[in-house]
Amino acid sequence: MTMPSIYTKVAEPLKDFVVAEEAHEQNETNIHSAVRDILYEIGEDPQRQGLLKTPDRVARMFDELTVGYRTDPIKLINGALFDVEYNDLVLVKDIEFYSLCEHHMLPFYGRAHVAYIPDGKVIGLSKIPRIVEMFARRLQVQERMTSEIAHLLEEVLQPQGVAVVVEGSHMCSMMRGVKKAEATMTTRTLLGKFHDDRELRSELFAHIAKDSGN
Ligand SMILES: [Zn+2]
Repeated sequence: MTMPSIYTKVAEPLKDFVVAEEAHEQNETNIHSAVRDILYEIGEDPQRQGLLKTPDRVARMFDELTVGYRTDPIKLINGALFDVEYNDLVLVKDIEFYSLCEHHMLPFYGRAHVAYIPDGKVIGLSKIPRIVEMFARRLQVQERMTSEIAHLLEEVLQPQGVAVVVEGSHMCSMMRGVKKAEATMTTRTLLGKFHDDRELRSELFAHIAKDSGN
């Protein structure tokens, strides 16, 4: 299986998914000095006790929150594709995600719903949330994240259709006093049958609306 390079922006191999849990301090990086600069520029004293370790915490945080750049989708999927004679709707609902908007580097977060109609091939269920996570843990705009999830699944499964619906709340709007109504957003990418078949689409949206958490 070959994958276009957009999915892995860094050619380096790959930490596994749950990195950066380790509590060790990192070696001094440019992020450390950049954070110190920001602290200074906003009028803080980077040397005061509460802030001394902040550059290190922020560096480790960014390592974790952007691990999607260093995740290889092929390794992530790890052979969990199966030939199955099932050609009806597969829907994984309410996948929690946390991402960072690329305009402000502030969080946006919410739920993703991922559906597909197989064409003889299915993917292990646990892989779908991990695919969502891989794209969420980058600097993103919600529209692009939605589309990237859908197109990766289309590529690996070659299904009859893929649909991805993402509901996100954006801290950059919520915290900055923009009207609250503008702070949440729904995006969707509909491919194949989900694009062409209106009835299927309404069925999908009904499934998504049913018992949706909250
Ligand atoms: Zn933003």
